[in-house]
Amino acid sequence: MECLRVKLYTPTGIFKNPLSIKGIEVYPLPPYSTIIGLIYRAMGRKWNGEYFQISIQGDYQAIYRDYVWFKKHNFKDKELGRLPLQVPILYNLWLLIHIKASEEILNEIESGLKEPKELLFLSGGEYPVKVEEVKRVKCFEKRLSEEETITLNFNAYIPKEFKEKISLSGTGKGILFSFSYFYKDSQKPKTYSWIDAYYFQKGTEIYGSLILDEDNNPVFLAEPTTKELKKSEGEEYVRFYAGNWLIASACVGVLKVLENAGEDIKKYVEERTLKIPKSLWEKLPELYVDYLLKDKESVKRSLEDSYRQRGNDINPYNTLIYSRLRDFHSNSPFTNQSHEYIKRLKGVYSENLEEVLEKVKESFLEAYRKLLATTKDLSSTCFFCHERQAKNYVDATTFTPLFASLETVRNFIWDPIPICKECEFLLYFASAGFYRSAGKYLFVYVPDDLLETYRLNLILSTEKEIEQEKLGKVWSVVKYVLDLEKQKSSWVLQNIYFVEIEMVGDATANIYSFHISPNLAKAIRELIDHYPKNLQDIFSEFLFYVYTGRSLYEFLFLLLSGFIRKDSYKNLQGGTIESKIVQAGRNMKYISQNLLFFINFQEVLNMNAQKDYINWAFWAGRELKKLYKENESTQKKLEPLTYRLLEAIRRKDKEYFIHNLIRAYLEVEKEIPYFFKEALDDKNFSMIAYAFLIGLNSEEKSKEEQANDEGENSESA
Ligand SMILES: [Zn+2]
Repeated sequence: MECLRVKLYTPTGIFKNPLSIKGIEVYPLPPYSTIIGLIYRAMGRKWNGEYFQISIQGDYQAIYRDYVWFKKHNFKDKELGRLPLQVPILYNLWLLIHIKASEEILNEIESGLKEPKELLFLSGGEYPVKVEEVKRVKCFEKRLSEEETITLNFNAYIPKEFKEKISLSGTGKGILFSFSYFYKDSQKPKTYSWIDAYYFQKGTEIYGSLILDEDNNPVFLAEPTTKELKKSEGEEYVRFYAGNWLIASACVGVLKVLENAGEDIKKYVEERTLKIPKSLWEKLPELYVDYLLKDKESVKRSLEDSYRQRGNDINPYNTLIYSRLRDFHSNSPFTNQSHEYIKRLKGVYSENLEEVLEKVKESFLEAYRKLLATTKDLSSTCFFCHERQAKNYVDATTFTPLFASLETVRNFIWDPIPICKECEFLLYFASAGFYRSAGKYLFVYVPDDLLETYRLNLILSTEKEIEQEKLGKVWSVVKYVLDLEKQKSSWVLQNIYFVEIEMVGDATANIYSFHISPNLAKAIRELIDHYPKNLQDIFSEFLFYVYTGRSLYEFLFLLLSGFIRKDSYKNLQGGTIESKIVQAGRNMKYISQNLLFFINFQEVLNMNAQKDYINWAFWAGRELKKLYKENESTQKKLEPLTYRLLEAIRRKDKEYFIHNLIRAYLEVEKEIPYFFKEALDDKNFSMIAYAFLIGLNSEEKSKEEQANDEGENSESA
């Protein structure tokens, strides 16, 4: 057989689903529909119902995670909100594409790609795509025995049917993705058909029934049309595809609920798919409300507290259900206060707990029926499951932190997203999937494995209190993730991430995401044991700085400000991250060398090779302090000097810093060490300045005192 072989190059690429909620689901190579779209743009015409087969392979130099800003446009207030989401971006990407089609279409594609009618882009890339080769190649079917094994030179998509014919070994078991493929038909609105394929990394060894081109490149052609297999199977099961953190968090919520109901949850998970028997699905609303009310002691306490505060204005539904669902599902059938089944519980309070709970439960089930009854007449397939018919569009009630109301705000989604009733109800379980603590929600996502995602999130929500105090919940998960390094492919590792949602208003939220970059893994492994023991109280604040990519120099600034300016912060209140750090600074009895930890950590993240300067600057500070302490007149000047240096650091004013340093050394009749002139450049300024300031304010303590106050963690990884 003959194929058209195409080689493409692009400097950057972010590959996501068409119609995708941007950045929620990304792929290591472009999905089929992206390549098909590119081919049609090159041909300068629209798809006309024809099909051809393609094989997609490729390689990239590096993955970076970067923030992409999504616009959230509020038409009512004419405000342009921005929502930062972190997405992996591929740098320097080469693609090897094989196309098999009828002679007529192959000719058209060939001339289109040789002389494109439009400038070609791959989605998310800023630069045009360079077409490096368009060539007809002979391809052969060949059966390779185990001895004739070949190695993949490129990362490849291997369609599910294809994978059954070959054997693979080497790095990992492949990651199953569901990809958008050709359109289903030419009708509007356009719906994609979907195709399941595994992603294998280069270096994987394969043998079995293969197709090879004339240069011995394996070719993994996808079927021309996708079979509608899922439909017939779908009669027994309700299926959900956890291909992104949002659906994954909802699936984890469902698994928690099922576990609580005594189900063996392993039965219901296959890789990234959650499949629930229809009969069980029908019981799920009831199981969910049972889950929300499961802890009888705390339910009782909440009701008593609420009664004490509100008297006859108590509404047990709001105390027990609304409070759990409002942040993610504001204004929904489950939370909107205008619904009769919520209003009627006002004032309901009695000594008989079971009676009250029964009423709450009834209202919850009515809310569920209300949800089912609210439908729109749509012909599209659901965006999330690719399978069932959509009955609604996604809006703020579906998942408030991410979506907006369709009437008032058209957000960063350019087209309304169609959703089926099953997926819509599923999303309500995100409230149970995320771990909630101090007004924040946290979720860990492992892209290829729903059960693993469930386990990790269970660590977040059930870790013993003692361990939590010691190191923070996030930390125990970070440790676990670092242990996964050996078992998972690098694509998966780069894409394990934490999603943190912080509600900042009724319907507005900040969404942060954090992943463990290779640098961060290195810093954690090398240094985490040296985290100052006397600062355990702000360990989770430290992690927050690290995982949101904020500079630890800002962290240090707050800490040192708290210590140095104790008095000016004595009325400080509030539970913000910043005020907690300042408070921790105020509580420090003295400063010691262990604070250099933060500088060292930051410089590993910065990949700075000149870390020797840190100790040097610290000891220079310590030395100068000694000289100042030698006589009374200079001793008094130490504090003002510290203030001025801190101010210089805050302003990042190198000149002012050096000016003060020169004066300081003159004060004790010394010349400023030559080191400062040599090393204090823009890149090293914060590193040296902070290390010096820590030295200047540090105290020597006896070994014993140090061990008590600031000993190193023995428990860390
Ligand atoms: Zn659906």
